[in-house]
Amino acid sequence: MSYQINKVGVIGAGTMGGGIAALIAGTGLPVVLLDVPAEGADRNKTVRALWERQRKSSPAALFTPEAANLVTLGNIEDDFDKLSECDWIIEAIIEQLEPKQQLMARIEAVRKPNTIVSSNTSGIPISSIGAQRSEEFRKHFLGTHFFNPPRYLKLLEVIPTTDTAPEVIAFIKDFGTHHLGKGVVVCKDTPGFIANRIGAFVSQVRLLAAIENGYSVEEVDALTGVLIGNPKTATFRLADLVGLDVIWNVNRNQHAALVNDESREIFQSPEILNKLVEQKALGNKSGAGFYKAVHTQAGREFHILDLKTGQYESPTKPRSTLVDEVKSIEDIGQRIKKIFECGEDRDAIYLIETTLQILGYAARRVPEICDSITDVDNAMKWGFNTSLGPFGTWDAIGVREGAAMMRTRNIPVPQWVDDMLAKGNTSFYQREGAKVTGVYLPLAIGYGPIANSQWQIALKDNYATPRELKRNASASLHDIGDGVLCFEFHSKGNTLDALIYDVGHYALDVLEGRDDFRALVIGSQGKDFCLGANIGMFLQAIAAAGGDFKLIEKVSFDLQEFLMRFRFARKPVVAAPYQRVLGGGAEVVMAGASVVAAAETYIGLVEFGVGIIPAAGGCKELVRRNVSPHVAEGGNVVADVTPHLAKVFETIAYAKVSESAYIAQQRGFFKSSDSIVLNSDNLIGIAKQKVIQLAESHYVAPSRADKSVWAAGRKGKAFLFSSVDQLRWGKFMSAHDALIAKKLAHVLCGGDLSSPQWVTEDYILELEREAFASLLGETKTQERITHMLKYAKPLRN
Ligand code: NAD
Repeated sequence: MSYQINKVGVIGAGTMGGGIAALIAGTGLPVVLLDVPAEGADRNKTVRALWERQRKSSPAALFTPEAANLVTLGNIEDDFDKLSECDWIIEAIIEQLEPKQQLMARIEAVRKPNTIVSSNTSGIPISSIGAQRSEEFRKHFLGTHFFNPPRYLKLLEVIPTTDTAPEVIAFIKDFGTHHLGKGVVVCKDTPGFIANRIGAFVSQVRLLAAIENGYSVEEVDALTGVLIGNPKTATFRLADLVGLDVIWNVNRNQHAALVNDESREIFQSPEILNKLVEQKALGNKSGAGFYKAVHTQAGREFHILDLKTGQYESPTKPRSTLVDEVKSIEDIGQRIKKIFECGEDRDAIYLIETTLQILGYAARRVPEICDSITDVDNAMKWGFNTSLGPFGTWDAIGVREGAAMMRTRNIPVPQWVDDMLAKGNTSFYQREGAKVTGVYLPLAIGYGPIANSQWQIALKDNYATPRELKRNASASLHDIGDGVLCFEFHSKGNTLDALIYDVGHYALDVLEGRDDFRALVIGSQGKDFCLGANIGMFLQAIAAAGGDFKLIEKVSFDLQEFLMRFRFARKPVVAAPYQRVLGGGAEVVMAGASVVAAAETYIGLVEFGVGIIPAAGGCKELVRRNVSPHVAEGGNVVADVTPHLAKVFETIAYAKVSESAYIAQQRGFFKSSDSIVLNSDNLIGIAKQKVIQLAESHYVAPSRADKSVWAAGRKGKAFLFSSVDQLRWGKFMSAHDALIAKKLAHVLCGGDLSSPQWVTEDYILELEREAFASLLGETKTQERITHMLKYAKPLRN
């Protein structure tokens, strides 16, 4: 049987159901979303109100506002038969067994054969929800546990029952990974599945160890956040974010359900947590939890709960020699290893003791909660944004060494780990250099390959191998196979600097000079694709130029010429942006022949905030992409270009950053032929495929001599100038904003041309440079840049 999803039904339009519906509609599929009927004549009032919350949520649940048009709202009394058209029906109603079971009986009556049905329950055994249904139903029934908010949290736990057909499991895994862009792990049907089972243990161990050994909330959060590869919410800030009532309930449920868990008692909430919940100090949502927001004369301050007295105290910002000693070690595994070598240090003791308990617990849960240790690690990485999972951490400190330390502390080590060590296998993952090549399979008692998608390319696997053709501190050039190069940024924030230019020029020399390479991908795998040009360079240039405008212009000229080499290269270049793509980063992306963007791409030309305008082809590209296509060949204007010009102007003058790649496409950063990929792990692999297609379809580079940009001339400029004047009169813009905006208008319209006409790209590039250099000469622009460098926030002066 092969499955296809053309329409999805979601029942329950609350936090999760609404979020799941928004995610799925965002990927282009129609969704039927049902909730209980409202009383009175307007029976869809409830579902509409719930859906309105999703439409307005921040951060946005939908990739574009228009995606809402794909969602049909209804109620479970009048519209239930609409589910008969769905290929996948997801239940996300109240967390109670009986209503879920009753709903399944009704679904069975309307669903067409082979429709997949899943429950989003966090805690009810999946098999009990489907227990009374037919065999055919149960073959197509499983758990799909999304995390909140469904668009942004990567983890999707898939929980088959013993009746679920293997092809249904395989299909949902594939659909979840590739269509929805999730990180999928397969779990056994046990309480809390993987992430919440281990996550709850981690949170309890850290809390109890702090109480028993006298570590403060502040101390623990300083140790258990970014220092060990976790988000900065660490332990107590995370608890406040999740809600202490939620944690208390999870503990209670786990304790009740896990009767055979040897560590069950850890799930008893300590007295201080009981007390906080009783007092309704539930964390962020109630204003106090482990931290309490207090308004002082100096502004808002967070006071900290004393775990012994239950009183809130002012922060003390404790210093830690351990943190000072290890924080410069970049690799998290190496850093944790170093912490384990500092066994005399009070802070190290806390981390060592709690970490050993966590690693032992995770290992003892295999194969109870899942068969694969990679799934345990991935569930923690994707569900909690940690750099390493428990087995990756244990590898870093040494499996044998870790097991020995556990034994001296009476932490049980499971038999399979002892068996693994007895056979001389001393790590959970097999590695060749930085590359992970295999993983230990406890059930197979040996190593097996890592099941990565065919599209997944890990650039770091090439580091220090012959495939890394050039490297400096900011960038690398890789050979990613099949005649394709990949130019990677890895500077801080992936900001553009002189070292990146060096590798980039080399990349182009190789691409154009060697017959064994046919195409190039610009891609990276850090937190953000690129945060723009290093604006500190601009201040240095001003100082060095000593008032010589030509020297300042050269800063812009160098970046323009660098990017135009990509644009006019004989062989195709595809950029693969993701997450934040700002300023110069956006200009890099638009210099390629095509784009393969992650759905979560936030792109914007934000130069205005630092008092300048885009001057590495950004103005030119937005006009070429968004204004020029509305003009017929030869200059016969077939449409009024003013609205298109105004849109480009606003995009730059308001420094608009897209909330998704789809919105970037609407704003004209990406073309309709550019691709959007839901799963960012596959980005470079898919970009490679796209650039190969371009190369194989006899790619012809654009010609630099072409007059391909429509310049609206003085008439367009007059229109934009009057908009600026109105904004200025309305006091929506400062005088300096107006000055920058008029320079921008001048560039976008092709300067002082007396009539609209086609011009070359170089013509607009020159205007960009002039405007850039003159703005950099302005004191107020220099103040904006200095302020941004100092406070990482724009100054409006
Ligand atoms: P919620 O209370 O926000 O939404 C539940 C919705 O279901 C409500 O709108 C309610 O009116 C509706 N509902 C109740 N009974 C119904 C019925 N018989 N038919 C149709 N609709 C009905 O709850 P939620 O947080 O979205 O949780 C939904 C499910 O997802 C639960 O099983 C929960 O355990 C699970 N879950 C929640 C989270 C989370 O973080 N909130 C995360 C993962 C899983």
